[in-house]
Amino acid sequence: MEVMLLKVIDECCCECTTQNLNKTKESCPVCNNEGVTVSRITVEHLVTDDNRKAVGGDNYRICMNEDCDVAYYNVDNGIKFLKVQVSVPIWFKKDANPKYACYCSKVTEEQVIEAVVKHGVKTVKEVNSITGAMKKPNCKEYNPLGVCCHKIIQEAIDKGLTIK
Ligand SMILES: [Zn+2]
Repeated sequence: MEVMLLKVIDECCCECTTQNLNKTKESCPVCNNEGVTVSRITVEHLVTDDNRKAVGGDNYRICMNEDCDVAYYNVDNGIKFLKVQVSVPIWFKKDANPKYACYCSKVTEEQVIEAVVKHGVKTVKEVNSITGAMKKPNCKEYNPLGVCCHKIIQEAIDKGLTIK
């Protein structure tokens, strides 16, 4: 799954000379893997209460390496937040528990898989009506990437279909 998500990162298409510099500068300070841009709003909302005042600057990334303890890091000022400083488990990180498929409505991957296996649903829409997922979408604040949960739900459905 990480591999797929990593494709989201746009490679520089113009071969500009700053490409390598930027890449190094923007990779995770701990594992050196590339991160994905997240908005400060997302970071501010998801870090635990005692870390919220430490959020500064705007240029945040999320480390997509499942083995790395870093969640968010700022590429300008070096501020970073570990996954233990984030109030929700990040679904693609190792040992995420529970593994949410929809953060807005707190529906887990397990619930989606169960809906697929037990109720035979196949589409995100059907899953949503059974599990209540995406009822009150506010992905920018609740999803660790600040993106729509739709994709994660689809991945959980695919998982359920292979189990079935
Ligand atoms: Zn990392």
